[in-house]
Amino acid sequence: MPELRKDPVLKRWVIIATERASRPNDFKKKRDDFPANQDLSKCPFCPGNEFMTPPEVLAYRKPGTLPNGPGWWIRVINNKFPALNPEGSLDKKGIGIYDMMNGIGYHEVLIETEDHFATSITMSNSQFEEIIWGYRDRIIELSKRVFSKYGVRKTIMEDIAKEIGFTAAAIYYYFDSKDELFKACLQDEISKVVAMMEEEVKNAQTPHDKLKKLVEAKVEGTKKIIKNFNIGEEIVGELRGEIERLGLKELASREIKLIEEAIKEGIEKGVFRENLDIKRENFIIHTLAKELASKSASQKDISDTIDIILSGIEKK
Ligand SMILES: [Zn+2]
Repeated sequence: MPELRKDPVLKRWVIIATERASRPNDFKKKRDDFPANQDLSKCPFCPGNEFMTPPEVLAYRKPGTLPNGPGWWIRVINNKFPALNPEGSLDKKGIGIYDMMNGIGYHEVLIETEDHFATSITMSNSQFEEIIWGYRDRIIELSKRVFSKYGVRKTIMEDIAKEIGFTAAAIYYYFDSKDELFKACLQDEISKVVAMMEEEVKNAQTPHDKLKKLVEAKVEGTKKIIKNFNIGEEIVGELRGEIERLGLKELASREIKLIEEAIKEGIEKGVFRENLDIKRENFIIHTLAKELASKSASQKDISDTIDIILSGIEKK
């Protein structure tokens, strides 16, 4: 298990990872390291050799190309010889003036280009931009896991930095505050719920089916948000407030709109009662969905509740 030790003079955390001694030595300068002598077929970071690395955790790739194959321009993989280990707890302890903790965290490799010979001088501005988006995306994804582990309120930027293998200063380069970072994480999760709901609408045939699938997706998505951010039951009620505070209301309102449209369609097709107050029904559906999600209701409970709502708004 790698260890984090604090340098008492420089007040800096240092990773002690003896496991990394077994990795291939890639810094030894030999004659065949000169570009003209390099055999690209043996380079694990070149397109076509994806099988040589651990599976990718993120890739910006051309539509229609398969994960862990060519077609990418940014690729992120787990480090084959990680200096940090994602499993376990930090177990902070102090011995005299020395502070130490377990080397818990993530250690990934971002492959900044598919061009083996590219350097920061030959690289295009747009490729640089993509690299920055790549780092930002990974900060968001890994921060979610830290938030989920310790809870949004208890997590401080330094904890996130330690666990995701960045310095706090480096994270501040992407996000002004923990709030900004949390906002980006929440935005990402809500976008996923909206995308899931949009997908369900496409696949459903009748207004009844649409509404059922939409509410199911909404409950499932909310459940995931609660779990991902380790939000306690009492805080679920504050989620709406948080969404408003962080300026994500417009994004969240897309969920509301999808449900409203399904109700409207049902009324127009004569399947739902025509005297329905769409806004009120939607409010009821949302309140119930949140309640079902926070109580981590079973699939059957969710399905039964939706049936009750539907039987209430359907034409008899
Ligand atoms: Zn290469």
